[in-house]
Amino acid sequence: MEYKEISLPAAKSIALVAHDNKKKDLIAWCKQNRADLSIHTLFATGTTGTLIEKETGLPINKLISGPLGGDQQVGALITEGKVDMLIFFWDPFEPMPHDPDVKALLRIAAVWNIPIACNQSSADFMVSSPLFNGESQHWVPDYAAYMAKRSQI
Ligand code: PGA
Repeated sequence: MEYKEISLPAAKSIALVAHDNKKKDLIAWCKQNRADLSIHTLFATGTTGTLIEKETGLPINKLISGPLGGDQQVGALITEGKVDMLIFFWDPFEPMPHDPDVKALLRIAAVWNIPIACNQSSADFMVSSPLFNGESQHWVPDYAAYMAKRSQI
C-alpha cells in the first residue's frame, strides 16, 4: 500500500460511540472535556448522540443507532475523510448483536490511520495532546496510486 501525507485543520470531525454499559462514562467524559470538544464537528451513533446532546448541549450530528447500522455509517464517513478521530467506549464484557460491525469499524479506523480511543485512559491521552486542538499531519492510503495499480490487473 502506498501512503500520502494529509494535513488536518485544528477543527476536526470526531465520532463518539459508547456501548450501553459505557454511555454514562462517555457522557461524563464529554462534560469534563466540553470546551475542547466544542471546537470540533461531532458525530455519534443515534442513542449515544441523543444522550450527549441532552446532557452537554454540544451539537451532535446523529447517525443511525449502532445495532441498526450506525457503526457502519461511522466507518463509511472515515473512508470518505469526513471523520478524523474516533472515541469509542466499547464494552469488553458484553456480546453484541452488531459485533461484526464493531470489528469492521475498528478495521477501517486502522486502514485510514485515524486516532482512535477505545477506553477512557486513551481518550484522556488524546484530548490532552496538542494535536487534538491543533493542526496535524497523517499518513493515509494513497487511493489514486492504489487505483492506478488496480487498473493494471
Ligand atoms: P447507540 O449505538 O449509540 O445507538 O447505542 C452504539 C453502539 O452500540 O454501537
